Amino acid sequence: MGWAIALHGGAGDIPRHLPPERRQPREAALQNCLSMGVAAIKANKSPLDVVELVVRELENVPCFNAGRGSVLTHSGTVEMEACIMDGNTKRCGAVSGLTTVVNPVSLARLVMEKTPHIYLSFQGAEAFAREQGVQTVDTSNFITSENVERLKQAKEANRIQIDYTQPVIMASKGEYEETNPNLDSQIGTVGCVVVDGNGSLATATSTGGLVNKMVGRIGDTPIIGAGTYANRFCAVSATGKGEEIMRATVARDVAALMEFKGMSLEVAADYVIQHCTPKGTAGLVAVSATGEVTMLFNTTGMFRACATEDGYSETGIW
Ligand code: ASP
Repeated sequence: MGWAIALHGGAGDIPRHLPPERRQPREAALQNCLSMGVAAIKANKSPLDVVELVVRELENVPCFNAGRGSVLTHSGTVEMEACIMDGNTKRCGAVSGLTTVVNPVSLARLVMEKTPHIYLSFQGAEAFAREQGVQTVDTSNFITSENVERLKQAKEANRIQIDYTQPVIMASKGEYEETNPNLDSQIGTVGCVVVDGNGSLATATSTGGLVNKMVGRIGDTPIIGAGTYANRFCAVSATGKGEEIMRATVARDVAALMEFKGMSLEVAADYVIQHCTPKGTAGLVAVSATGEVTMLFNTTGMFRACATEDGYSETGIW
């Protein structure tokens, strides 16, 4: 038993020849956020505070698909979403359809703490952000030239893209097929899970969704039990093709296998990733109340990092 933390910067078909200029900033950001999270745990911050802190930081890094770096909808707009959940109390908050909020994860926490609800979206969520006085910017600040180019390429190919490209669905048919490897969308959704030395758990996930998604599309990230879930057994943050993750209720199924089948975190997560989601569509990071940590994916890679109280630490992509 001890504290543990894991974070991800998205799963997908990440090319092994990823150029250093694309790889290094993301690895550095993951390392930095991991250190920040570990320091916060050691300073006795609550798991909820730590996941919010880490995900806020990841949202501020433009090379990930969340907050500042969010990918664009079919109409060239941003619609960000995020979710946060406390394992012991099962209190949770979620937001979708944000166009001006700098840190969606913090708005999700405010939904959890300041409203009788769990999930606010679109105009209602934006109005709540104004009421709460969270930092907002003109929506044009989120439209980066890189993401405009990504959208252009996705539209030309009539595709809706997972963050790291290759396995995609044809916009018209809903079928998976190989893509042109030059279609670069190598950025990712972000998430963080934490357990403290007392076994208290929390999770948070934040995303811009999929490149060229329909306006109004909601993915797995803000759906409790799909992309994000925590209870007293484990905390899970998933990434990948949202429609598949929702269908498989990935995060909740990991928790349910532990709770009802008595599986360890590793076995439960492996079962869900290998048997419940199609190959090439999903990844997750998770921690258990007893301090286990796991980072699994059935895609080519997942930007990820973790650390535990007993000194174990790992950072990886493939
Ligand atoms: N799961 C996210 C979505 O479908 C995307 C991702 O994780 O990269 O919106």
